[in-house]
Amino acid sequence: MVTHGPVSTEFDFDSPGKRSGFIDVSHSSNELSVSAIRVPVGVIAGGDGPTVLLTAGNHGDEYEGQVILHRLMQVLTPDAVTGRVILIPALNTPAVTARTRVSPLDGGNMNRIFPGGTASGPTAAIASFVDAHLLPRADAVLDFHSGGTVASYVDCGYLCLGPDAALNAANLELADAFGAPFTVICPIDGTGGDFDTAAHMRGTRFLSCELGGMGTVSLDSFETGWNGTLRILQHLGCVETPDLPAPATTRFIDAGSTAGFATAAHHGLAKLHVRLGQEVEAGTPLATLFDAHNFGEIRDEFTAGKAGVVSIVRRNPMVLPGDHLCLVSREYQRSDLRAQYAHSA
Ligand SMILES: [Zn+2]
Repeated sequence: MVTHGPVSTEFDFDSPGKRSGFIDVSHSSNELSVSAIRVPVGVIAGGDGPTVLLTAGNHGDEYEGQVILHRLMQVLTPDAVTGRVILIPALNTPAVTARTRVSPLDGGNMNRIFPGGTASGPTAAIASFVDAHLLPRADAVLDFHSGGTVASYVDCGYLCLGPDAALNAANLELADAFGAPFTVICPIDGTGGDFDTAAHMRGTRFLSCELGGMGTVSLDSFETGWNGTLRILQHLGCVETPDLPAPATTRFIDAGSTAGFATAAHHGLAKLHVRLGQEVEAGTPLATLFDAHNFGEIRDEFTAGKAGVVSIVRRNPMVLPGDHLCLVSREYQRSDLRAQYAHSA
């Protein structure tokens, strides 16, 4: 039995074989005073080799990775594994169960709370267990995300570049092996609460990904994530899969504050003029915002501020001030990346 604050588990992460079990989190509330939050976990371990940790359900309403990990648990056998694959398909189990992005128990956003803690609710406790007990076991981590129920992303790897230049280079190899059509480049400085940062600060190789969204699982996003996962396992020498499709030559794009959000300044009903993945030039019309209360009036028009790729679109067209309608990501060349991690080093 391992205990870590309110977290405890009798799960055997280390012996050869294939099994599933739970990481239990005690949480005292009106509903849960005599029950535990049971976070499902699986391991498939063969001979000596690397340990790869696969996590989904970090955000509860992002389903692509959850489905991929359930499928992988069905088909992968210990004799096909050199090393060990640890799978956690519903990392923030209360959020997954509630079909919400963050935990309904404590409002915790798993990807803003790392490295977590043992005295501030179940979300932080799960993060803290992962940070203290699973990251030290892992040679590499792949964490699955998507646009959830509110948006859709282009299928992409998500590569955070931090202070450790050698680790950045090793993680770029994972992004190339994952081989999604796009890879988002995101600078981190070691102070964020995301899983990527926690892994970077422990020196663990890490890639996350964004696969579609809209609260569903498209066949295309599933295939991108499935093939990418197997290619990463193959790249690390953990699983040999003949006849895997070759990775796409990924295109590097930005996100966050350096990318171009089209953001509503008013209430309104939005009509997008662009598709996910579409290339746009500066000045390309992105969206029209109709005035929902004054029929026949246009509230705003949006155009691209710079050339790029439409990387995120929102689902619900009825928007409030501050809502992003879409994101136009600038494209990086591979040589720009090398300059970035030289800079971050
Ligand atoms: Zn997410």
